[in-house]
Order: sequence, then structure tokens, then C-alpha cells
Amino acid sequence: MQAQFIIASIEAVYEVILNHEAELESLDRAIGDGDHYINISRGLTKLMDLRESLQDLSVDESLNKIAMTLLSTIGGASGPLFASFFMGMAQSFQQPSDMTAKLYANAFSAGVEKLAQRGKSSLGEKTMLDVLIPVADEFKLAADKGLTSKETASALIVTAEKGVLATKELLATKGRAAGLGERAIGHIDPGAKSCQLIIETICKLILR
Ligand code: ADP
Ligand code: MG
Repeated sequence: MQAQFIIASIEAVYEVILNHEAELESLDRAIGDGDHYINISRGLTKLMDLRESLQDLSVDESLNKIAMTLLSTIGGASGPLFASFFMGMAQSFQQPSDMTAKLYANAFSAGVEKLAQRGKSSLGEKTMLDVLIPVADEFKLAADKGLTSKETASALIVTAEKGVLATKELLATKGRAAGLGERAIGHIDPGAKSCQLIIETICKLILR
């Protein structure tokens, strides 16, 4: 992964998240405390400031720096979770290997596993993992099937959309929404929505 791609991803994600302020805020107001947009936009603003310093770093150094930045800026439940994701990815990139689709798919899965460990959470709990786990599985499948990067990106956009919609009918068993019981049903999880937007944005960069 080129530094240039990481920087372009930060810029594109920053713009998309800013454009979804009202939606992300209202989702978290419905089943959380309303700060999810503020939390992630704070992290992304800091990443925008860091862009130049990422230029000369290796991929794993860059991902670790992103993790540390998110850990210290996002706060809430989601800060340590996003940080764990990038730490897991960074660790995976430290294993020497050819830059193949499998390397990326494995790194993404390693990130998701680290996040799930940190959150003590899994699929079906109405969290960001309801987007991330299916995307990780689809990514590995695409790599195994030898799909091109564009085919993979298209497939992952669809999987992320399905994942975020699936959170609507779920009961929440983790995070703030867990206290709401049945009242959380009918609402999309804010963290799942932000992850879907981030995945879609990066996939669209690949499709350009
Ligand atoms: P907080 O809940 O502290 O206000 P945010 O609003 O920034 O933090 O993030 C809330 C999101 O974090 C939720 O929508 C959910 O997707 C995710 N989340 C919370 N707890 C967990 C967990 N244990 N595992 C996975 N994701 C979680
Ligand atoms: Mg919140």
C-alpha cells in the first residue's frame, strides 16, 4: 500500500464523514448519546493534520501512527475500537509477504479480529462488527477466488451496505444501545454506518 493511497483515503473519508454529519449524529442520538459524529470527525481532523508525516513511513508504521492518533483523539467507545483495528492491520503488515490481494484481505481480517477482542463483541450484536465481519469474510473470499481489485471493491461495497441495514432489526447487546432493549430495534447502529461509509469511500477510490 502506497503512502499516497493512505493519504488519499484519509482525505476522501474526511470529506464523506463531514458530509454525513446530520445522519451520523441523529443515529447516535437515537440509540446512543449523540457524539459519534463528533468523535470520528475529531479523529479524522487530526489525521488530516498528520498527512505529511505519513509520507515517508512504511505501511505498518503509518497504520500504527493512525491507530495511536485515533486512540488519543476519538474517545468514547469507538476510539479504542478503531485504534485496535489499525493496530491489528499494522501487525499483519509486519509479516513479510508479497503485496497480494491475500495480504490485504488478511490484514483487514487481523484488524477486525483485534477490534472484536477489544470490544469483546461479535457478529449480530448491533455494532460496527456487523459491517466489518461480513466485509472481512467477503474480502478473503474475493482474494481466494482471484478477483481483481475493482471486482473486490464492488463486492465489498454491497456487503457493507447489507451489513449496515442488517443492524436495524437487531437487539443491541454491546455498547450504549445495549441498555435500550427492544427500543433499539428499528434503528441503524451509528458505528456500523460510519464503517460502511468508510469502506464504501475507500472502495470507490479503487474503482476510480
Ligand atoms: P460511545 O458509545 O462511547 O458514545 P461512539 O458514539 O463514538 O462511542 O461509538 C458508538 C459505536 O461504537 C456504536 O454504534 C457501535 O458500533 C460501537 N461499539 C460500541 N461498543 C462496542 C463493542 N463492544 N464492540 C464493537 N463495537 C462497539
Ligand atoms: Mg456515542
